[in-house]
Amino acid sequence: MTKIPDHLIKDIGGLFSRPVKCTLFTHINPDGDAIGTMLGFYMFLSAMGHRVSMIVPNEIPPYLTWLPECEKILVAKDHFDASLKALREADLLICVDFNEPDRLDRLRDEFIRSKAFKVLIDHHPNPKDFTDLVISIPETGSSSELLYSLLVATGNGHRVDKKIAECFFVGIMTDTGCFNYNSSNPETFRVVADLLEKGIDKDDIFNKVYDNFSADRMRLLGFSLDEKMIVIPEYRTAYIALTREELAQYNHVTGDTEGFVNLPFSIKGIKVTALFLEKEDHIKISFRSRGNFEINKFSEKHFNGGGHKNAAGGESYTSLEETVKTFVSLLPLYKHELSPE
Ligand code: 5GP
Ligand code: MN
Repeated sequence: MTKIPDHLIKDIGGLFSRPVKCTLFTHINPDGDAIGTMLGFYMFLSAMGHRVSMIVPNEIPPYLTWLPECEKILVAKDHFDASLKALREADLLICVDFNEPDRLDRLRDEFIRSKAFKVLIDHHPNPKDFTDLVISIPETGSSSELLYSLLVATGNGHRVDKKIAECFFVGIMTDTGCFNYNSSNPETFRVVADLLEKGIDKDDIFNKVYDNFSADRMRLLGFSLDEKMIVIPEYRTAYIALTREELAQYNHVTGDTEGFVNLPFSIKGIKVTALFLEKEDHIKISFRSRGNFEINKFSEKHFNGGGHKNAAGGESYTSLEETVKTFVSLLPLYKHELSPE
């Protein structure tokens, strides 16, 4: 269980001492932790008698849509007016699993303008100052683990039922790459033990998240590794860049490339990986690193991004080719950290 400071327990407890109208937000391109944390909190707050809405800036990947109550999430890209209404009508706005307002995409300005009380519950380092209450614990492997710990610390652990536990388990499982990283703290496994005791079927959840893709996605994976992966041994770096045409050729849907960025780590010695995806009007980049190389700082400095020390993302508004060229040209600047010993 993550240790939550006493004053935060008091502050968050106070907010829910009477029924509130509350809207939950998570980040653009949501992942399992974003959606799992938001849904778990939604079900908990609704059962307590609060009026709750959920908003996500863009589409939810299909590998998460089976989660309970997922259909209640407003996708702002498709339902912008309804999302604005939910934002405007709430007394309390709660952000989960992100820590800078830009990640709200088109809702950013309206969020900033709102006079409602704002809360952040997150585990990314260096939160921006845009909420009234900040519950930010970067040492925690996932926002789902953090929220579960917060519910226990406020005396509400018994209210976490099987459905809520399923959502939190998805958050923890996906943000740790199935307990591959961000999961060296024994507390993570204590939380998982609690969730298992709530009756969740871990194997079934794994199956629904990871064994739920199309044949095209598997072929895209093969193509990406065989024809598109570039390895630069002198900087212990490997990357994959996919054009819109290539993605379309394999009938790509949101979530299909989830996890691709981690695959080159199976190559001995690789310390930095990147995945470049050509979107309609920009290039979306995923970065990963191993060890002490702070890929969030790299992404923030060069690609308008951020994230965790070993897992970050960014964007570029030049062409795919230019973006990759820039990335490769930056590597010599990090020679001391990346060159093989
Ligand atoms: P992913 O590569 O899985 O999309 O993201 C990895 C991590 O970096 C996640 O924690 C995510 O929230 C963060 N991240 C991804 N893209 C961006 C971005 O454009 N800006 C910032 N600040 N963080 C990002
Ligand atoms: Mn997370």
